[in-house]
Amino acid sequence: MRVAIFGGTFDPIHSAHLVVAREAARQFTLDQVLFVPDAVPPHKPDRTPFRQRLRMVQLACQDQPDFAVSDIEQANEKSYSILTLERLTLSGDEWFFLIGADAFAEITTWHRWRDVVALVTFIVVSRPSSAYAVPPGARILPLETLALDVSSTRIRADLARGEMPDELPPAVADYIRAERLYGF
Ligand code: ATP
Repeated sequence: MRVAIFGGTFDPIHSAHLVVAREAARQFTLDQVLFVPDAVPPHKPDRTPFRQRLRMVQLACQDQPDFAVSDIEQANEKSYSILTLERLTLSGDEWFFLIGADAFAEITTWHRWRDVVALVTFIVVSRPSSAYAVPPGARILPLETLALDVSSTRIRADLARGEMPDELPPAVADYIRAERLYGF
């Protein structure tokens, strides 16, 4: 199988995440996109608890047969991608890592980044005003047909002002209302 890991905080998941996953699956004939919500990064204590971010990702992916959701990071104290990748890539599948250009631009700051780039081929998605360099040893497939101006940061700000953004999948919007997340 050709599988792309799609890591992120997903706080909350939004339509650009889903469009990116759909477009990557189409352009690179992936059998599955595996969404992997991060454990709470130690330097982001204000983040929504893992359980609720995971639930929102599950709700957003529930009708997409080629999207799957992993809770593998739940138990991790530290959110180091290499630890997750080493566990996931043990199987004989062909592994990709789906990532936005903003996040890929920081790849050389990741814990053991050389080991990370040796394990997977990156699918790097263009994002408005994000340029990146390709570090030595990294294999990348650029996905340049998208320029989606959506971020979780902006969505959290809208919700805090009492506005429900259009970029939230309906089941996620219902969950945010029911759980009273983000000050909505
Ligand atoms: P925040 O605004 O809280 O930093 P975000 O919207 O960037 O969040 P993340 O959960 O950090 O969302 O993103 C997970 C992955 O999805 C990252 O690789 C990120 O670059 C990518 N991504 C998120 N939004 C977009 C977008 N609009 N276009 C392309 N890639 C995106």
